[in-house]
Amino acid sequence: MSPVIPIQADVGCQDAPVLRERGQREVFCGLTGIIWLHRKMQDAFFLVVGSRTCAHLIQSAAGVMIFAEPRFATAILDERDLAGLADAQDELDRVVQRLLSRRPDIRLLFLVGSCPSEVIKLDLSRAASRLNQRFSPQVRVLNYSGSGIETTFTQGEDACLAALAPTLPSLPTVSVSSQPELMVVGALADVVEDQFQRLFQAMGLSRVSFFPSRSATNLPAVGPQTRFLLAQPFLGDTARALEARGAQRIAAPFPLGAEGSAAWMMAAAAAMGIDPDKAAQAIAPARERAEQALSVHRARLSGRRVFFFPDSQLEIPLARFLSRELGMQLVEVGSPYLHRTHLAEELALLPSGTFLSEGQDVERQLDRCRAARPDLVVCGLGLANPLEAEGMTTKWSIELVFTPIQGFEQAGDLAALFTRPLHRRQLLAA
Ligand code: SF4
Repeated sequence: MSPVIPIQADVGCQDAPVLRERGQREVFCGLTGIIWLHRKMQDAFFLVVGSRTCAHLIQSAAGVMIFAEPRFATAILDERDLAGLADAQDELDRVVQRLLSRRPDIRLLFLVGSCPSEVIKLDLSRAASRLNQRFSPQVRVLNYSGSGIETTFTQGEDACLAALAPTLPSLPTVSVSSQPELMVVGALADVVEDQFQRLFQAMGLSRVSFFPSRSATNLPAVGPQTRFLLAQPFLGDTARALEARGAQRIAAPFPLGAEGSAAWMMAAAAAMGIDPDKAAQAIAPARERAEQALSVHRARLSGRRVFFFPDSQLEIPLARFLSRELGMQLVEVGSPYLHRTHLAEELALLPSGTFLSEGQDVERQLDRCRAARPDLVVCGLGLANPLEAEGMTTKWSIELVFTPIQGFEQAGDLAALFTRPLHRRQLLAA
């Protein structure tokens, strides 16, 4: 395959030093992932085992569905549970029994751990295996943790998919004639998934599955023939769980922007033995549309300085997109965790000398940000308002996870998420 992205001499941060910080952090917890996962997996239910705080977080972030049956809820641990006076396992059984008798449409039930359930050491894996025995095969019960202790909010999806991966059906045993099968891993908006599906088909790839799938009764099969392509950079545990099933990861940058999407699709084509010219031809019209959409934003963003606080784990691919496709200057790129292997292709594309940081000591990072006075700060909700009050322009990083931003057709929308706050600030100043 011909290289999709030429690497220049002044490009590459594979071996760049990284400032590692382990201080106070300002991030959401993994329960947040339920907001996009429950929309994706349409017959799954997420039962958070937590406190009223957890229930408020989910309800205020996802909105309360008045007319629709919700697909998430919180089993609230009260004072008696927390004090160890009640048997929380028995109570959980009763809640699940009630839920499943009222909601026969549920096929997959996730018991989602939280800070309170972890503090009282409530063993949700024991609960899941007991409930599984009782309700399977109608309902599969799994568990994962969405706790905010030492995690960041996108890890909720990773933990959820890592719990699901061992339960995926197995592909038939490999034979010499077995063809590799492509699996795209990471929750994508349905519209994005459909676009990728069409492009893969145009390349000549028909055996493509998506994990998570829209239905729990139609989970993709996995095995040594599986070549998987991560659609999100925060799926370290999921990748490990799939590798334990024999699947092999396809190394690629992430599908953000015209260049990133092209490199991602071309990496899949190469791994699946597709002729590179045919693959490039199949994606050419979409790539061109994306490049055109980006040119408008490039004029507005080029030369502007951007600072990333660690939050979503999308920071490195976003920084690559902003610097290479929109000409922005990277002041600091902070990420909660820096998975060097999964991000190797992204790091190779960052301008050399980019200031990278991992983890957070929020006060020290705020000092660096104030001293640098960037044009745009990408950060969590908790930091955005104080920074705006100090006259800085901010972009909420969580919006980048909730919005469909992957793929060619979304490249312009992704760039617009960065031009909009700058435009708003200009209007306010006028
Ligand atoms: S899991 Fe922890 S951080 Fe998340 S809402 Fe519940 S108590 Fe708060």
